[in-house]
Amino acid sequence: MRKVLVSAFFLLISNLTFSQKNPVAEITRLITRQEVEAHLTFLASDEMRGRNTGSPELEIAANYIAAQFKLMGLKPVPSLNSYFQTVPLENVYPATNGKLTLADESFGYKEHFVILEGGNQTWSGEVVYVGYGSADELKAANVKDKMVIALAGSKDSEGNPMAIFNASNEKFKNVKEAGAAGLVEIFASPQIPWAALVNYFANNTSMRVKGADGVSIPHLWLKGGESIALSKIKEQSLSGSLAIEGIKQVDIPSRNVLGVLEGSDPKLKNEYLVVSAHYDHVGVQKNAKAGTDSIFNGARDNAIGVVGMLATAKYLSQYPPKRSVLFVAWTAEEKGLLGSKYYSENPVIPMKQTVFNFNCDGAGYNDITAATIIGMERTTAESDLFKACQAFGLKATVDPVPEQNLFERSDNYYFAVKGVPAISFSPGVKSFDAELMKYYHKQADEVSSLDFDYLIKYFRAYVYSNVLLSSNPKVPVWKSGDKFEAEAKKLYGK
Ligand SMILES: [Zn+2]
Repeated sequence: MRKVLVSAFFLLISNLTFSQKNPVAEITRLITRQEVEAHLTFLASDEMRGRNTGSPELEIAANYIAAQFKLMGLKPVPSLNSYFQTVPLENVYPATNGKLTLADESFGYKEHFVILEGGNQTWSGEVVYVGYGSADELKAANVKDKMVIALAGSKDSEGNPMAIFNASNEKFKNVKEAGAAGLVEIFASPQIPWAALVNYFANNTSMRVKGADGVSIPHLWLKGGESIALSKIKEQSLSGSLAIEGIKQVDIPSRNVLGVLEGSDPKLKNEYLVVSAHYDHVGVQKNAKAGTDSIFNGARDNAIGVVGMLATAKYLSQYPPKRSVLFVAWTAEEKGLLGSKYYSENPVIPMKQTVFNFNCDGAGYNDITAATIIGMERTTAESDLFKACQAFGLKATVDPVPEQNLFERSDNYYFAVKGVPAISFSPGVKSFDAELMKYYHKQADEVSSLDFDYLIKYFRAYVYSNVLLSSNPKVPVWKSGDKFEAEAKKLYGK
C-alpha cells in the first residue's frame, strides 16, 4: 500500500517536472479546439452585430474579454483600477460648406478641395508656397501664422497615392509644429480620380481620437491641374482666405481592455511583453437589402486574434513566464488603429519597460501550411518564431505582399514608431487572391467557414511563440539597419 502511494507521489512530481519541460505537449493539452471554438462563436456571432466601435455590442465584447482575464487570474493595471483604459474618440461629420481664396481666385468645397483635418473656421491672411514642403523647404520659408501651400507628395513620389499619403502626414505634422495657420496641398495623382477623393473625405463621417486641445489647424487637398495656376501661387506675398462650416463632432466613448501577468524572474519581471489583438470590426452594412446578410461578423478579422491572445493568457497564467506580460485587446483598429495609437501616447506600462509587442491580427488565410508573420525578418525574435511554428507543423512565412503596407496597417505599428520591436502574427497568406478577398471585410467572414484543423495549430504556435519570447533571457531587438532602430536607441538608451 505504502509503496504504491510513494511511487504514485513520485510519478506525480515527475509528471509536473516533465510537463513544464514540455511546453509543446502542455500547450496541446491546454489549448483545445473546443475552447477556441467557444470563444470565436461568442465573439463573431450575429448577435454581436459586427462589433463596430461605438456600438453596445463592442462593449459586450469588452466585458467578455475582461471576464476571461479575471477567470485566468490576470490583474488589472494598478494605475487603471480596472481592466479598461478609456479611449476618448469622436465621430466627425463632414463640412457642409467651404470656400478658399488665393489672390483673386476662389475655390469651392468638394468641387476644388477636400478637408483632411480641422474644424469650422474663418481665416484670412498671408499665404506662402513651399514646393513639396520637405522639412528643409519648410525651415527655409517663414511659415509662422501663414497658410502653407505645397505640392502633395515628395520629389520622388510621382503621383503614387500611398507615397502622397505618407508624405502628407509628416508634412502636416511639421507645418503644425512650425506654427502655420494651415496646410493646403495641391493634389495630383493619375491613379486617384478627384471624385473618389471627394467621396472618401467629404461624404463620410470619420472617427478620431479627441484632441486634447480641441480643433486642429486646417489641412486641405486642392485639386491640381486646370483649377489652379501654379505661377500665381509661387508669387511672393500672396494673400488668401478660408471659410469652413457645418462640421459636427460627436463623442464616442470606447475602451481598450488590459490585463497583467507578473513575471516570475526577480529581474526580468520588470520587462514587459505586450500580447495584443484588436477586438473591434466594422459592424453592419447600412441600407442592406431586406433578407440579405448585413452583418460583418469579423471571425477572421479579428476574433481569431483575440482568441490567440486569450489562449496565450490561459497558458501563461498556468505556467508563469520570466518576464511580465501585458495582454491588450484594442478598440477602433478598423477606424485607423485608434486604440493602439491612443495607448502609444498614453501607455499604462512605461514604453521603456516594454520590450516587445507581438500583435495577433489578420485579413484571413489562403495557406494552411503556414503562419505569416508581418515584420518577422526585422527583429531577432525570428528564431523563436520559427521554432514555435515548426513545433506545430507550420511554416513561418514573411509578408508576401509588402506593397499592401500590412506592417503599417496593424496595431503593432504605433509601438514600432515609439521604438519598441513590434510585429504581427497572421494566418497563412500567400497572396491577396480571390480566396482571401471572399472573406476580407465581407459578411461571409463567419465562424462556420473556418478550418479548425488549421486554426488549432495556428493558435498553439502563437501561444508557444509567446512562451518563448516571455522567457528567453535574451530580449529581442530590431535587426541592425532597421528603420526603427534609431527610435529604439532613444527609448532604451542603448
Ligand atoms: Zn479589418
